[in-house]
Amino acid sequence: MSNADTPTVKLLINGEFVESKTSEWRNVINPATQEVLARVPFATDDEIEAAVASAKEAFKTWRKTGIGTRARIFLKYQQLIRENMKELAAILTAEQGKTLADAEGDIFRGLEVVEHAASIGNLQLGELANNVATGVDTYTLLQPLGVCAGITPFNFPAMIPLWMFPMAIVTGNTFVLKPSEQDPMVTMRLTELALEAGIPAGVLNVVHGGPDAVNAICDHKDIKAVSFVGSTKVGTHVYNRASQAGKRAQCMMGAKNHAIVMPDANKDQTLNALAGSAFGAAGQRCMAVSVAVLVGEARDWVPELAEKAKTLKVSAGAEDGTDVGPLISRSALERVNGLIQKGADEGAELVLDGRNPTVPGYEEGNFVGPTIFNGVTADMTIYQEEIFGPVLCVMHAETMEEAIEIINANPNGNGTAIFTRSGAAARRFQEDIDVGQVGINVPIPVPVPIFSFTGSRGSKLGDLGPYGKQVILFYTQTKTVTARWFDEDEVATGVNTTIRLK
Ligand code: NAD
Repeated sequence: MSNADTPTVKLLINGEFVESKTSEWRNVINPATQEVLARVPFATDDEIEAAVASAKEAFKTWRKTGIGTRARIFLKYQQLIRENMKELAAILTAEQGKTLADAEGDIFRGLEVVEHAASIGNLQLGELANNVATGVDTYTLLQPLGVCAGITPFNFPAMIPLWMFPMAIVTGNTFVLKPSEQDPMVTMRLTELALEAGIPAGVLNVVHGGPDAVNAICDHKDIKAVSFVGSTKVGTHVYNRASQAGKRAQCMMGAKNHAIVMPDANKDQTLNALAGSAFGAAGQRCMAVSVAVLVGEARDWVPELAEKAKTLKVSAGAEDGTDVGPLISRSALERVNGLIQKGADEGAELVLDGRNPTVPGYEEGNFVGPTIFNGVTADMTIYQEEIFGPVLCVMHAETMEEAIEIINANPNGNGTAIFTRSGAAARRFQEDIDVGQVGINVPIPVPVPIFSFTGSRGSKLGDLGPYGKQVILFYTQTKTVTARWFDEDEVATGVNTTIRLK
């Protein structure tokens, strides 16, 4: 297919899906086949300017739109996402690689945030204290900030955009989204449905691009808040740059998620959970378990874990029965294969080597099968880097305390889990572990949207999480109003020069 025949991904500016005038384009590639699915533009400065200007203009009326109107748009939006679930999942699988079932999961976890957005009436309530002094009341207004922006990663191209713009918009803000340039197509289909649901022109805008677009967003004087999800390196840059420009910023970043396996755990359930969470989505989840710390006799469970991993089918996400799809890109494949080699060179025991699997019909795909290293230590590169592939590092500990120390010494604090049948051990773990998302016999403990996603230490910058109750505070400015009313005939008490209200 020549460039002229390849579909182009559009920008969304002021309610119109428009062709970019840029000269810089990148191919969106099916990672199972290398087929070019579309070309995505790197928006020009003028286009980014136009997107922000349209959001700024739309804010004037959107900020005063009634709660019921805002809520009903998101009620309609959740219905449209449900009705189009299969089509959305097929687009997502083609450009991202994950299995169709997992693609539906990606969309569903975003859909839950849309459902939550529809209950905005209760979420954006202020507080009122009656008679803070005689005849004086104080109350709070949670007011929208203005133009907000979101920058999203490749690994959840439905869920993470849906973490952002529904909550920002339903609280009365307008939005500029910059999706991942690696897989922007399902995100664009979701924005089409958002407009169909009734989001007015200018309230939601989309620009595409890479570092230049991100930097322009961080620097823009009319953008009030930036929400970022992606790697620690880029997230730290975005946080610093946006904060320096006076914006609110929240950055959800990289991970190295450990699971502690106690010898009293239900063995079969635990090994299934480890294999599913380490190798599902080809390990390209920020909440994937990438390190298992086996305690005591559980250290002998590695051969059985490897047997389970070997049963997983590596193929294109669109094929029936696939468990492990391709990595997002050729460069991701080369990087993961290189890290596996490095692990072997540095002395970890390569129990299962998933490099160069045979995948009939998909010889060009970016595949790595489940890979397990045993005897990994904290000084090894495979432990220090986020591999973001289907690679599980197994470490050993004598006691739970030792395992907790290993986890708390790691710079990341995104997710963790313990597998045990002891309530006392689980409670001690939940108390002492310094990680945002904690699972107890649950390997990928992503909280549902009535709670907020969080993260500790190197996995998060900014105080407030990207959905749940915290994001209402992120996307609003609290104003306190202290009010006193006088009747016409009320007798004046004279000039009061003290600070107290009576
Ligand atoms: P990435 O950091 O490479 O890209 C994220 C976004 O930043 C993209 O939109 C990209 O265009 C932009 N970007 C890339 N390089 C940039 C640069 N130099 N300057 C400015 N912007 C730049 O991340 P990714 O590879 O798309 O996603 C995977 C990463 O995201 C992993 O580290 C994963 O752990 C993390 N992640 C974290 C969470 C979480 O909630 N903590 C969720 C999903 C993914």
